[in-house]
Amino acid sequence: MNYFNPQDRPRMPVPFKGYPYYYPQYRIPAPYYPQGWNTFHHPIQTNQIPFFPRNFIPTQYLNEDVRGSWTPFSWVEKYAYAFSGPYNKAEVALTFDDGPDFVHTPLILDKLKKYGVKATFFLLGENVEKYPDVVKRMAAEGHVVGNHSYDHPNFVKVSNEEYHDQILKTGEMIQKLTGYFPKFIRPPYGSINEEKLKWATEQRFMIIQWSIDTLDWKGTSAEAISVNIFANAFPGSIILQHSAPSEAKLQGSVEALELIIPQLQSKGARFVTLPEMFSTSKER
Ligand SMILES: [Zn+2]
Repeated sequence: MNYFNPQDRPRMPVPFKGYPYYYPQYRIPAPYYPQGWNTFHHPIQTNQIPFFPRNFIPTQYLNEDVRGSWTPFSWVEKYAYAFSGPYNKAEVALTFDDGPDFVHTPLILDKLKKYGVKATFFLLGENVEKYPDVVKRMAAEGHVVGNHSYDHPNFVKVSNEEYHDQILKTGEMIQKLTGYFPKFIRPPYGSINEEKLKWATEQRFMIIQWSIDTLDWKGTSAEAISVNIFANAFPGSIILQHSAPSEAKLQGSVEALELIIPQLQSKGARFVTLPEMFSTSKER
């Protein structure tokens, strides 16, 4: 079975409205699995759907404790908001947060160039100021630049004015270097509330979370990162890695690209940027 080959996987019904852009960030163990939700939402058993792990559970059934910072499922339908891309295309997106820096980002760019893969980088304004040449290189090599705020505040905890200022100031800095005002925003910590999401949608931004968290900032090894990705990748996956300044322990994350890219490509997966995945512009 190759999940990335449409000919080689069973037909999958859309289990509920809005599914293509949704995937839970957290898994919970089998005992929490509510009775009957799968037969209620769609007529086939979850073990017949290779995309769903056995303990897949829609976000709306999780309580706040279990889902952590997870936000309501309904927001994906109401706003320009996504955790993953369409499941009917064999596409996967690599995303790197908190950059640029002068150690890891150039190494990541070298690896991506080696494999001819384009990725999306969510940059912090304070690092864009420090390393403008790295941002220019990123853009020149065909990668997409997104906005990750100026200095990484928790958007839920700051005022609306501060939130708007963080986005607009960083967007303008990126525009000066790349020629476009980025459409894609990733909130620091994945933290966002409905009022701020509504503003971003009205302002023609798109807020993107992730479906696979590599936890690379903890110093995770390349092997552990690639095992996590192979266990969880599905068409439409958005993978979260970091390209943060040098004190972060990201060597494993950089090395993991050597494992992730060829192996997923051999299964037929294409690596795309977020504007490609969502068939939209990188520019606001
Ligand atoms: Zn971040």
